[in-house]
Amino acid sequence: MTHQIRRGTKVIVVGAGLAGLTAALRLKQMGAKVSLVEARDRVGGRVLTIRGAFALGQHAEVGADFIDEGQHEIIRLVKEQGLTLHSILKQGFAFVRHPGPGRKRRHILSGEEAWDSLTHALCPLVAAYRAADKRWDSPIAGQLARQSAAQWLEEVKADSTMRAVVRGLRGFFLADPEELSLLALVDQLAGDVPGQTAMYRIEGGNDRLPLALAEHLGEDLRLNSVVRAISQDRNSVRVRVETLDGQESSIQGKYVVLAVPTTTLRSIHMQPPLPAMQARAICSLKYGRTTKALLQFDKSFWRKKGRPQACGTDAPTGAFWDANEEQAGEAGILTLMPGGQASEDTQKIVAQRGVGGLVDALDWMGSRSATLLHSRIVTWEDDPWVQGGYAYFDLGFDPHLRDWLTRPHGRIIFAGEHTSVTWQGYMNGAVESGLRAAEEVCAMVLKK
Ligand SMILES: Cc1cc2nc3c(=O)[nH]c(=O)nc-3n(C[C@H](O)[C@H](O)[C@H](O)COP(=O)(O)OP(=O)(O)OC[C@H]3O[C@@H](n4cnc5c(N)ncnc54)[C@H](O)[C@@H]3O)c2cc1C
Repeated sequence: MTHQIRRGTKVIVVGAGLAGLTAALRLKQMGAKVSLVEARDRVGGRVLTIRGAFALGQHAEVGADFIDEGQHEIIRLVKEQGLTLHSILKQGFAFVRHPGPGRKRRHILSGEEAWDSLTHALCPLVAAYRAADKRWDSPIAGQLARQSAAQWLEEVKADSTMRAVVRGLRGFFLADPEELSLLALVDQLAGDVPGQTAMYRIEGGNDRLPLALAEHLGEDLRLNSVVRAISQDRNSVRVRVETLDGQESSIQGKYVVLAVPTTTLRSIHMQPPLPAMQARAICSLKYGRTTKALLQFDKSFWRKKGRPQACGTDAPTGAFWDANEEQAGEAGILTLMPGGQASEDTQKIVAQRGVGGLVDALDWMGSRSATLLHSRIVTWEDDPWVQGGYAYFDLGFDPHLRDWLTRPHGRIIFAGEHTSVTWQGYMNGAVESGLRAAEEVCAMVLKK
């Protein structure tokens, strides 16, 4: 049963990504009067399906792609909205070592083979972290956070395969081993091994979820409206909004749910200001670099019997996978997702040699046997409304600060993937945080 809020309590939600949309819809269902404010001319944020750019009416995801088994909140929401999930990439992610320029011999490891030695080597650290209930305020987490993944590889004298596997994880963490805190790696392995559970996509494109959520909001949604400042007193909040043509207005309400990445949250002026620890948490959280390249070929040269359809790799063009096996037609779309330094390396290839340079770089996979039809490339660190792919914890992030990302500041409640503990970096984390934020508003109303 949904909790009820005093009817007509006005709540302003900022950011129409999955976190903000979920919070807004849930608050509306609870009886609140909602106003959802979004800077872009569309909803969905980092969920973006590219349509109309490819032959045969095919589409692919330039933002979030996979929904994993066990991600209950998003799966429930997809079903609630009458949408269907397609099972994809049933063999999961394998790992392939980049053979080096001009070489074709490949070294493919199954997901299990790639993870086994890493999980074995990290086992004592994962056990210690679990013994501390995975608490980020524990001395164990503090110790792990003082080391980078690269320093740990040195310390354990990791062989070249393990080093390549960890470098390949930049397609997942969006950070190179030198940038990534060992705590982030241990935390991941204390949960799930990435890319090894069943995966799904929404039939017709993942953006059908944000679009379906937005339909329930109708006129409560304002696009092209940037939140610049929020002030609050004992009874209310006031949000200053600027439209793209420079018009300013303000909205008054009882509470604000702030569901924007910390990269843009930093430039929203707050009165009274955030507590020092919270401001530090928000300012020091890093967002990973990532470019996504969707390449449509006349034939899917990567779909060969016995060959993995999804691979992590240490190649400069990043992880790759089949972007649309569930769609009809002989043509197929291949996704490349380079993270960390590979994002920059991929951009350099495209700047110097065009998309053809990317196709050439995939020669070792047999790319020359097919013709490139269409492509779409998006670099997320250049997107002004997120400035990266998703949050990651680097060496500079003090784990004691993590809690502060989620603590309410008076009448302001924070949501977004970065605030999720279990599913940070995922759509599920965004949805879960939106539901949590709605419940927090409800609890605050009841307390008054
Ligand atoms: C390339 C890529 C691949 C990914 N792959 C996956 C995947 O396979 N599976 C998965 O689960 N997740 C994946 N993710 C992560 C997933 O997309 C995010 O975790 C999730 O969509 C974040 O939702 P959100 O609502 O927290 O933030 P966002 O989607 O970023 O929404 C925030 C919204 O706030 C708006 N905004 C920002 N500042 C302001 C302001 N000042 N005023 C008004 N509006 C503002 C933004 O325009 C945006 O629409 C991927 C992300 C990327 C970039």
